[in-house]
Amino acid sequence: MKVTFLGTGSGKTSLKRFHSSLLFSLNDYNLLIDAGDGISRALLNANVNYNSINGILFTHLHPDHFTGLGALIVQMKMFNRVGPLEIYIYEKYVEDVNSFLLRCNIIPEKMDFKILYKPFSDKDEFTVNDELKILPRENSHLSGLKRYIQYSNRTFYAASFLFSHQNKRILYTADIGSADDLGLFKEFEVDVLISEITHITISELSEKIKLFRFPKTYLTHITDGDEAELAQSIKNLIISEIKVELATDKQTFEF
Ligand SMILES: [Zn+2]
Ligand SMILES: [Zn+2]
Repeated sequence: MKVTFLGTGSGKTSLKRFHSSLLFSLNDYNLLIDAGDGISRALLNANVNYNSINGILFTHLHPDHFTGLGALIVQMKMFNRVGPLEIYIYEKYVEDVNSFLLRCNIIPEKMDFKILYKPFSDKDEFTVNDELKILPRENSHLSGLKRYIQYSNRTFYAASFLFSHQNKRILYTADIGSADDLGLFKEFEVDVLISEITHITISELSEKIKLFRFPKTYLTHITDGDEAELAQSIKNLIISEIKVELATDKQTFEF
């Protein structure tokens, strides 16, 4: 499996980094993780054919993770897609995503391909393409919004994911609420941590890396203004033998 960082930026729009998004390239299946504002350009930038994407998994619905979906589906249509597109989404968000697409004037009868919703429930492992296992667990990123539930007749939900592939595991935090969320999968041995670095500090992160013994960490969701300081902190961590890397757009690793 190959992992590509399509975007490594935070919620702040940047000319240096696209919003956070990953591409997992399996044997014959490409899974996009998040499709925020500008995702179509991020895919162009990384030379990824829109119609090579078989499925999209969403972590949560903030615009930097979600609102590029309508534009991306329109690109797929303009490039004559015929194969179905799977959308892996928290079960209580299916209706919201469906109505968002309808409001983008994406009408099922006018499409040459099907959009197949694959709802997941919190804490229930599911499998993509018979080879990638995904365990979602709710983190505290959107906990502060729960008191505004009257604006969302269902829920506010953000997930971190544990991906298992051929006995190896990647933990992807996605956007979190605090460093405590890094312990959501503490009973598992993790090979690679991909962590956001907007809502936690590098010192909180390094504590958790030591505590949970993450052997290798990639940082994403990086704000331009924080980059120089982060790079310096990472140099110090490497001296103390903590393996952390600031990811860049288009960077890949084999897994
Ligand atoms: Zn974000
Ligand atoms: Zn967010």
